[in-house]
Order: sequence, then C-alpha cells, then structure tokens
Amino acid sequence: MSTDKLIKDFEAVAGKENVMTSETDRHSYSYDAAVLDSVMPALVVRPGDSEALGKCVKLCNDNGLPLTVRGAGTNLSGGTIPHPGGVVVLTNGLSRILEINEEDMYAVVEPGVVTAQFAAEVAARGLFYPPDPGSQAVSTLGGNVAENAGGLRGLKYGVTKDYVMGVDFWDVNGELVKSGSRTVKCVSGYNLSGLMIASEGTLGVFDKIILKLIPPAQAAKSMMAIFPSMKAASETVAAIIASKIVPATLEMMDNFTIRTVENFRGAGLPTDAEALLLIEVDGHPAQVEDEAVVVERICKENGATELKVAKDAAERDAVWQARRDALPALAKLRPTCVLEDATVPRSKIPAMIEALDEIAGKLDLTIGTFGHAGDGNLHPTILTDKRDKAEWERVEKGIDMIFERALALGGTLSGEHGIGLAKSKYLEGETSPGTLKYARRMKSVLDPKGILNPGKIIG
Ligand SMILES: Cc1cc2nc3c(=O)[nH]c(=O)nc-3n(C[C@H](O)[C@H](O)[C@H](O)COP(=O)(O)OP(=O)(O)OC[C@H]3O[C@@H](n4cnc5c(N)ncnc54)[C@H](O)[C@@H]3O)c2cc1C
Repeated sequence: MSTDKLIKDFEAVAGKENVMTSETDRHSYSYDAAVLDSVMPALVVRPGDSEALGKCVKLCNDNGLPLTVRGAGTNLSGGTIPHPGGVVVLTNGLSRILEINEEDMYAVVEPGVVTAQFAAEVAARGLFYPPDPGSQAVSTLGGNVAENAGGLRGLKYGVTKDYVMGVDFWDVNGELVKSGSRTVKCVSGYNLSGLMIASEGTLGVFDKIILKLIPPAQAAKSMMAIFPSMKAASETVAAIIASKIVPATLEMMDNFTIRTVENFRGAGLPTDAEALLLIEVDGHPAQVEDEAVVVERICKENGATELKVAKDAAERDAVWQARRDALPALAKLRPTCVLEDATVPRSKIPAMIEALDEIAGKLDLTIGTFGHAGDGNLHPTILTDKRDKAEWERVEKGIDMIFERALALGGTLSGEHGIGLAKSKYLEGETSPGTLKYARRMKSVLDPKGILNPGKIIG
C-alpha cells in the first residue's frame, strides 16, 4: 500500500490534525529518556478516543507496520524508541479519569492520564494512590503500568503492579480484551492484567486501567540521618528492616550526590556527610512516634553522627525535594547522564556500594549513587559525554560490570525502569535460555507479525 493511502487511512481514523508526518514532528518522537540513538518513525498518530486507538492498532497490524505506543516518553530503557519506518501512537489524547469510586476505593482511567494529576485528584477525595515515580509530574499511568513503575514509597506501599485491579487492552487485531474487575477479589480466567504489567507495549495497547486506592496515613514523620560512610548508612538500612519497622520511604545518597544537590538548590544538606539516609515513617500518630524513636536509635547505634527530624510540612517537603533533585542536579554536570537501576537483595547493598566504587575507580568514571535503599534499588548514575568515544567505551564496560555484579549478588537488571532496548542483551543472564524461548513463543502467538514494539524486552 502506498504511503499516501496509509496516511489517509490514519487520518480517517484519528482526524487529519492528529496525524503527523513532518520531519520535525517525527524527530520529536524519535527518542526517549534513555541514552540510546534516536530512530525516526514514518508517522506519528494521536487517537482521541478509545475506538480510534483500537482502529490504529488494527491498521498497523493489517499493514505490517511496527507500532510503538508512547505515553510521556520518560522511560529510561528505550521502550519508546520507534522501529525504523514504524508508527508512534500517542496516548495523550486519552487522558480522562473516568471514575473515582470513594466507596469501593478504585478508579478507572484512560492510559494517558498524568500520574501526579491523578494522585492529586484522588487525594482531593480523601484517598491515596501511592506509586510516585520521580517523573510523576509528566509520566502517564499507561506508561507506569507498562513499566511497572516504582518510586519513593515502594518499600511500604509496593509499586504500580500492587494497584492494578484490571486492564482493558487492544490486542494486535484491534479487538478489545477485558481483564480484571472492580472487585477486591477476582479469579475469573487467566490473569491477563498481570501479563500486561511491565509488558512495555509488546503484547497489547492499554485502553483503560482500573486502579486500587487506599486510605491515606493519618500522620508521617520525615528524618535525615547523617553518616560518616556509605557502609554505615547501608548497614543501617539492613538494621532498620531487621527491626521489623517498614518505613514508607528509606532513601540513600552518597557524598558526591549530596554536594551536587546542594550546589543545585542550596537545600541545606550537610556537604561533609559521606552518606545520608532520608527516612519517612507513617501511619497512626502513636505508631509514627514509636517508630521514629526506634529508627533514631538504630541510626545512632550504627554510627549516624546526627539525625534531623522535620518539624513541619515545609521542612518535610524540603527533605523530599532534595531527594527529587538528585537526578536533575547530577544530570547538569556533564552532557550525558546514564541512570541505572540495578537492584540487589537489601542485605547486599553494602557489597553493591563497594562494587560501584571499585568500578568507578577501575574505569575512571564519575558515578553518583542515590536511590531506594530500602528496596535494594540503587541508582548508580554515570556522568559522561557520549561524544567522547574513549570515555563512552569505558561507560559501556562500566554498565556491563554493574549488571554482572548485581546478578552475581542475587539481584536483578531492573528494579523499576524496565528492560526495553537497553537491557535486552542481559536478560538471558538473569533468567535462562528457556525463559527467553518461552517469552518469544508467547509473543509470536499474541503478535504473529511482530508489530507491537519490536525489539523491546526479548530482542
Ligand atoms: C527524571 C525521571 C525520573 C524517573 N523516576 C522514576 C522512578 O522513580 N521510578 C520509576 O519506576 N521510573 C522512573 N522513571 C522512568 C519513567 O518515568 C517510568 O518508566 C514511567 O513509568 C514511564 O511513563 P511514561 O508515560 O513516560 O511512559 P513511556 O516512556 O511513554 O512508555 C514506557 C513504556 O510503556 C509503553 N506504553 C505506554 N503507554 C502504553 C499503553 N497505553 N499501552 C501499552 N504500553 C504502553 C511504551 O510503549 C513503553 O514501552 C523516571 C524517569 C525520569 C526521566
């Protein structure tokens, strides 16, 4: 079929103004937040409703056109880098919150709803949606489900998968598949919603998502503990968990990140501290008071030189703003910033920290480390310049070494950023040849022409 005819077909489905073919438009959707080469799609389409979305999927399949569905494009693993000559389908035309049910505590949303806007709407009704990726101001709920996004509250509240009650999605033939339900329990048929979580646009295109909501905590207390070494800080993480206290948030920053964040905004962080733990406990007010006392004791027993407790909402916000500044502050230092999310069992955090130091020293790389220490999910962030070929080769070697080490410690390639294009070459190392064969067989049945986000996850 001619390109002109195809464009006309997409225009008939989505409206002329929602089909983009100019070089500028196509360039805008040729890359995402991962540090990977961009790839130009043939066209970009923005369906405005559910029916148009389904028809776009069918049109792509009928014509054998690779389809990459895109929310905000903030993923860090190349999940929205299009296939050469493929179609990018945007979800920002499907951004309605369809229902917030306060009585049964769930919501039904379209995939293009922005995460923070949704959380704010829910909060205004006195309910709580915990998943809070650092990108929440722009990321979409569809992208969050497709990546199984985490965030600062993963330790106590879990990640996106823990809030998905159902997903309606368009299969590759443009047929609507409904899975899950608005009920707390549902075991009708295969758990297709589970299959869709973290599928990165390779198995179906989400049309609607049913999300669980919970009551908010009545009280919270945020603390900043200052440590003389990363080792002491990481041992404290293990000790807090071992004490059977589960903080809502337990984050870590190394000295390099602390200094960089302080230069970025001047948040009053102690620049001479070798490591910081940022901790929040929440729940019933009495429980919060008790847990804060225990956390303070454990921090001191493990070498904390100081523990500052936020006195009011402004101080609490300042603590968490400092943590959210970590990535933008580091990213300003050099032209290229590679944010990784190798994750290890919590008890192995000290060993992983040691490994990161060793890798940085051996390859002469600048690595700032921060992350969700309570989840074992560190974000070693390599600051570099991709145009410097010799340095970039060392960075690639460093990334290989980070993953090798994480796997050797019993960890995983990704705690929350997904596999996409960036990590598919490592996946067999974490799983097995049989796992990849199984996944490829499943994909070939559900998407026989291989048009749904080709190349992602399974190569
Ligand atoms: C500054 C920054 C901070 C971040 N912090 C975090 C963090 O704390 N925790 C975390 O987990 N991640 C984080 N991320 C990564 C990223 O924001 C998440 O992966 C997020 O879930 C992506 O959402 P998105 O809307 O941008 O999706 P996109 O990047 O547009 O897409 C992600 C994947 O989802 C697929 N997809 C999108 N919509 C659909 C749909 N309707 N149906 C099927 N598949 C779909 C895409 O094809 C792609 O494979 C961060 C990224 C940045 C840039």
